[in-house]
Amino acid sequence: MNIDLHCHCAPYSTCATQSIDELLLRAKEGGIRTLSITNHDTTKDEDLFEKKAVAMGFAYIKGAELGASLAEEGLGFPKGAKIHILAHAYKDGDLIESVMQDVKNGSENAKIKRARGEYIAKRFNDLSLSGLTKQRLIACLVEKGHFIDVGAAKEFFRSPEISDGFALHCLGPKETIDLIHKAGGFATWAHPFRGEHHYKFNEDDVKAILTKLVAYGLDGLECFHSSNFEAGGVDLLRALAKQYGLFETIGSDRHHNRPMPYFSFEKSITASYESEIDIGKIQGGNL
Ligand SMILES: [Zn+2]
Ligand SMILES: [Zn+2]
Repeated sequence: MNIDLHCHCAPYSTCATQSIDELLLRAKEGGIRTLSITNHDTTKDEDLFEKKAVAMGFAYIKGAELGASLAEEGLGFPKGAKIHILAHAYKDGDLIESVMQDVKNGSENAKIKRARGEYIAKRFNDLSLSGLTKQRLIACLVEKGHFIDVGAAKEFFRSPEISDGFALHCLGPKETIDLIHKAGGFATWAHPFRGEHHYKFNEDDVKAILTKLVAYGLDGLECFHSSNFEAGGVDLLRALAKQYGLFETIGSDRHHNRPMPYFSFEKSITASYESEIDIGKIQGGNL
């Protein structure tokens, strides 16, 4: 096991707590040789990541993890259901960054965020909560005793009441895959059994979504991710990858500088799994 094509660092991924230097150190200790850092919806400072990684002897592949909404796919998932698509080995990271920033800060999302703030103020009968940013709202909800701690307040934001009721606009899977290809990269479906906010997909869901993604030009499948092992789905994903001619990738999805084995599923990986992941092709950009 010496490849990690999926990990995060702070402050670029707001859910991550490890710094870029901590991440690189852990990866080095863990025996990783080929690395791709894939922060959420951003390619910011990736030249710096690459420089640091190469200086430490890693083979580095540029990466990002993009959220894509299933709302328009007609598959019957809740409005806020999103999947994650990894972009790898692209040439134009600036294009990805500018499109992501436009989507995030667009007028549509400003409107949804305003409505969300007003709803929360009304729900808790507390007008001082109106017009606050999400970070401030979370802090105030805890300060004022509406939630016991930050974790509980965050959980509230992830609940269907907020995440479906005020689903923020983002690209759909076709637009996301098109963007990655336009930037010269490869698109891989990350942790297929898990959507954003740990939304769980079952085997039928995975097959239905994958059929769509393949039609949109998906290149790869993250067959090796801890949540796939939990779902017992590694073999299924590998069979699907073979069926559709997708390459297989492996990712730790590490966010934190924790003293644990580099991969939580370390014991499940066999030598034969490793040897079949054709990362050389991704890195060379010649699939
Ligand atoms: Zn993800
Ligand atoms: Zn991730």
